Amino acid sequence: MEKNNTYIGIVLSGYQLMIGEIDTAGNILRMKEYRLNFFNQESALEIIKTSLDDFRKDGAWKAGRPAAIGVGLIGRVNADEGIWYQIDPQRTYPINLAQELTEWTGIPCFIDNDVKSATRAVIKWGLGRETDNFIYIYVGTGIAASLVIDGKQVRGSHFNAGEVGHLRVGVQVGLKCPCGRMDCVETIASSVGLDRQARFLHRYYDTRLEIPRQGERISVGEVFRLCQQGDPLCRKLVDNAAEAMANLIMDLVRVSDPDTVILAGEVVADGFLLERIREKLQAVTIRFVTGGVVLTQLDPRLISLLGAGAVAMDGMEQRKKGKKV
Ligand SMILES: [Zn+2]
Repeated sequence: MEKNNTYIGIVLSGYQLMIGEIDTAGNILRMKEYRLNFFNQESALEIIKTSLDDFRKDGAWKAGRPAAIGVGLIGRVNADEGIWYQIDPQRTYPINLAQELTEWTGIPCFIDNDVKSATRAVIKWGLGRETDNFIYIYVGTGIAASLVIDGKQVRGSHFNAGEVGHLRVGVQVGLKCPCGRMDCVETIASSVGLDRQARFLHRYYDTRLEIPRQGERISVGEVFRLCQQGDPLCRKLVDNAAEAMANLIMDLVRVSDPDTVILAGEVVADGFLLERIREKLQAVTIRFVTGGVVLTQLDPRLISLLGAGAVAMDGMEQRKKGKKV
């Protein structure tokens, strides 16, 4: 039992790669972050390999050779087949990432979408242990959700279910989303959305918020701090974000009838926005959400990494089951 009882989780998101060594109880034994400037699918495999090499050099495996590697990725993932699809729908060709990494490392490798992965961590170690019907919503640079209905994560026919960041939620700012629609919730309440809102609205409201150059982003923490001090622009940004998120949550509650809604991600991690969201939830709409609209019990900043570990663990469990049959 001393050997092969840890797992490697890797999360490749827009701006960073995280690697961690995770045990079966969901403890992160060691982790490292790598900042990324830009990557596409062609360079992703090389980035993962280089980071893994560096991570191992840093002290090899802490608890012996890991049993498996799990990778959480943005975009669409066929987790059963280990295939990663292009993020851009115009260039949809599949990459057999799990197999390529397995061959390169000699360790079984499994992959999943990052939000779907985090939801696995919630099921394994978080509030998902107590319910078969919950919604997990990630509010970071973007917004996405996973609907767990009757114990199953909804995935859809193109592995694209849960892209709820592109729902319109009754808040009108006048921002066009890259998807083509106006005022998607992601353009209002994600960290990128708060930045876009601030740039668009700052001419209409007094503010002490510093608007950085294009290419840089406003500080969400600063928006919250100034909001508490009564800054007119920051109050408007927070109010729009809270209204948009509350409507998103209530719409999703009507869709899947969960008993708990779990939030994670950098925008909600400190609990400030969550308090304002709760104030806008209507009692009738959320009367069956008995577990509440809550922040994840797992570290909201590390939940994706734990999720990648859960992908590795689930993959091995499934493989063992398959062998038994
Ligand atoms: Zn959109």
